[in-house]
Amino acid sequence: MALITKKDFEHDAAKEEERYKDNLEAGCPEDEARTDAQHCGEPLGVYERFPDDCLLCGGKLVIPFVFWAGQGADIGLHIECAARLSVALKRDVVEHRYGRDRAQQWYSQAKSEAVREVVQ
Ligand SMILES: [Zn+2]
Repeated sequence: MALITKKDFEHDAAKEEERYKDNLEAGCPEDEARTDAQHCGEPLGVYERFPDDCLLCGGKLVIPFVFWAGQGADIGLHIECAARLSVALKRDVVEHRYGRDRAQQWYSQAKSEAVREVVQ
């Protein structure tokens, strides 16, 4: 998972230069090193097609948002929805391992903490 910000849609000259130097140090021919570095410095949005809507609530995604390229499906979530979903997923794991009562107890505390952290 990654946090997608405005910066991910901008050219990153420093990243391009760093990649270029790394390529040269690795013995890559200069023209190939430059081409690879240019791709590396391009905005993430050039190569990645981000979802338009939030997986959880269905609302339109706005920057910043959480993105996960999964197997066969890419997931985009509002920050608040990512917090809610992550807690709900963990709740299911706790129920599987320790039972429903303990999961409910854990969930009620974790849910309020996760939402509070996002709101701050
Ligand atoms: Zn959402």
